[in-house]
Amino acid sequence: MTSSYSSSGAPGFSGPAKKQLGQHFLADRSYIDKIVLAVSPKDGDRLVEIGPGQGAITLPLLRRHPKLTVIEFDRDLVGPLAAAAEPLGEMTIIHRDVLQVDFTELAAGSPIRLVGNLPYNISSPILFHALDHAAMITDMHFMLQKEVVDRMAADPGSKVYGRLSVMLQAFCKVTSLFVVPPGAFRPPPKVDSAVVRLVPRDPATVGILDRKRFAHVVKAAFGQRRKTLRNALQNVCTPEQFEAAGVRSDARAEQLDVAQFIALANVPYEADA
Ligand code: SAM
Repeated sequence: MTSSYSSSGAPGFSGPAKKQLGQHFLADRSYIDKIVLAVSPKDGDRLVEIGPGQGAITLPLLRRHPKLTVIEFDRDLVGPLAAAAEPLGEMTIIHRDVLQVDFTELAAGSPIRLVGNLPYNISSPILFHALDHAAMITDMHFMLQKEVVDRMAADPGSKVYGRLSVMLQAFCKVTSLFVVPPGAFRPPPKVDSAVVRLVPRDPATVGILDRKRFAHVVKAAFGQRRKTLRNALQNVCTPEQFEAAGVRSDARAEQLDVAQFIALANVPYEADA
């Protein structure tokens, strides 16, 4: 399915934006500059951009840092993008679904920095895919729906604090940087967007003994966020485990901070030790 908007008209690119690929091309120079400034590439950085599209961020980044890898799924964009990048620097194009790209393999032992105005329809899967490879990622600068960034950065007690907040904040330092209005894109999305910086924490200091167990506890707790944890986690945590973790079972999920979720998920392992 294609949208009725034409593309941004960047040289060499033609055809309508593809809605099913989440194509909203950034067209406002001031926001592009802000993203490049937020990334501030340094010599030796290994930059990888997800979804370069027509090169709105790619080409200014290449001017600052003449070596870049990009991952783009839309075959119609690959040729014109390669031609536009050619005079500016060395750009490697991976023409694939980003969810099929193994970032650890791509890094090959030398950590990468991720950048992207992400396709909003698959932004959460991309975030969780990146988290799986966090040990090989220095940082990430992503444009997402503002509502998603608000949830990622929310503190306990906030209405939008939830599973995404806890899962992201457990593994990364999350900083919401700035808001971008719909008018900055062609075609404009229906909602505000925001740019977020994620810096993965050192796996040795995160303190989660079993990621699967942690994800299960967090999912179950927020699955029934209006209930007390005692009820929401009745098949997941025993009263003894609440006690061992020092977490009140009459609290609700939205009242627990990330460290408390980690303590609760770790208990069986600490008890077994
Ligand atoms: N970076 C460009 C910009 O800011 O103008 C384009 C951003 S647009 C929101 C998202 C881009 O991601 C599009 O170029 C789209 O084709 C690409 N894309 C969508 N799904 C993808 C996937 N699964 N893997 C890689 N790229 C994808």
